[in-house]
Amino acid sequence: MARVMLTLFDTCTRRSLPVEAQDGKTLRFYCCGPTVYAAAHIGNFRTFVAQDVFRRVVELGGLRTKHVRNITDVDDKTIRNSIAQGIPLKEYTEKWTRKFHDDCRALNCLSPHVEPSAVAHIPEQIELVKNLIEKGHAYLSEDGSVYFRISSYADYGRLAHLDSQTLDLGKTAQTRADTDEYEKDSVADFVLWKARRPEDGENYWESPWGQGRPGWHLECSAMSHKYLGDDFDLHSGGVDLIFPHHENEIAQSRCGCGGNFARQWFHITHLLVDGAKMSKSLGNMYTLDDLVALGHTPAALRYVLAGAYYRRPLNFTLSGMRDAAAALRKLRRFDDALATRANSTKAPEPTYRDLIKNPPDLNTFTPAWESLQDDLNTPEALGHLFSALHAIKPAELTPEESASTRRAFRFIIEALGLILPDVQDDETDEAPEEVRAIAEERWKARQAKDWSKADALRPRLAELGWGMKDGKDGYQLHRL
Ligand code: AMP
Ligand code: ZN
Repeated sequence: MARVMLTLFDTCTRRSLPVEAQDGKTLRFYCCGPTVYAAAHIGNFRTFVAQDVFRRVVELGGLRTKHVRNITDVDDKTIRNSIAQGIPLKEYTEKWTRKFHDDCRALNCLSPHVEPSAVAHIPEQIELVKNLIEKGHAYLSEDGSVYFRISSYADYGRLAHLDSQTLDLGKTAQTRADTDEYEKDSVADFVLWKARRPEDGENYWESPWGQGRPGWHLECSAMSHKYLGDDFDLHSGGVDLIFPHHENEIAQSRCGCGGNFARQWFHITHLLVDGAKMSKSLGNMYTLDDLVALGHTPAALRYVLAGAYYRRPLNFTLSGMRDAAAALRKLRRFDDALATRANSTKAPEPTYRDLIKNPPDLNTFTPAWESLQDDLNTPEALGHLFSALHAIKPAELTPEESASTRRAFRFIIEALGLILPDVQDDETDEAPEEVRAIAEERWKARQAKDWSKADALRPRLAELGWGMKDGKDGYQLHRL
């Protein structure tokens, strides 16, 4: 089969670059992982799913990968929350790490090959700070904290394309930031090692500079150095990490370890909810559990997240989730039809690993694969996938043709990591007209705050076998 090379937009050079393994065999990449202080929200999962699609396309395209993603289990937020709840930091972060893993599994994300935690790598981080001090890139302050001197690194600001005015290092060298959450546009010497403060409670470690803990940026430099070396292929995160986090990682790593650090940068644009930034105060922050409580499935969320082009903002809506569920049912029916036709060939179920080992001829599905190779254009790939579905009539295929078509179809499904739901024979994509009309009437009554009418319509829906879950911007019909 024709395997086109994957090209990806590189944040640093602002050009599309081919994705290549420097050693010709294994693509080594690092993703900044979750801060485990609460359940990850769907914005975080937009980024993790995009990275998962990236990995799948690379692996199905014939390259091995080494995927490293850290767990941030010590920072301002984890410490603040664990102390507020009276739970030791380790116990607190382990709970949220388990939840993160459960959600990743539900969303069909491949586990990274290495998942190091910041707390388990304190000696490596101390070692890096020592190096930076020795080489004149870091200094100790009066209170026992250590700062990186950004004026000592001439290339600071290259990734984020900071202009020379913002980067007047002579002036900013006097400014210091010791918080993990400082303002995005401030350019300041940033903290590498934070001296112990009363508000940190028992969360401190011994170091050559006294008791304290690492600053947030340090862990990714120390752990990528340990698991991927000083020159690796690609680094990724959400766009909010470009500055200051990734800029600081580059400075620490290049100055402290030598080497070039990452050769390519893959940043994922943010997810918005109903056109607005997600925030707790706006009440529009969803976790996977919130969506499941509203009657949606992890499979539908995977479809929505994987189907968005990573360089455009994704405007999340509940109606988009309903459309995703309907689209998945169509894909499942097509797969079932091919499996039934191919029955007599005894072809095994195509799995991700098997498709990597024995890639199929893609034929009608070639355009979908080409879109994925072209900067991971997943919405275009989905468009081609559905065009192929319309063009192929399983009933007209021989059993052998059905088996090979199914492998090609599943190759694209696996590249996107879609989860095909079980569809009951009697299940339709949509509720019948009569049910939809009652639901619409009830929704309008709710919007007009006519609660008694809305309540009265619920039993009528139930009589027809349907329930209705009300959301913030719409409703969801489900079979009772
Ligand atoms: P955090 O747990 O805050 O460290 O974030 C984990 C990952 O999610 C990082 O790569 C962030 O850049 C990314 N992220 C945070 N918010 C969003 C969002 N609204 N949309 C997409 N990615 C996000
Ligand atoms: Zn990082």
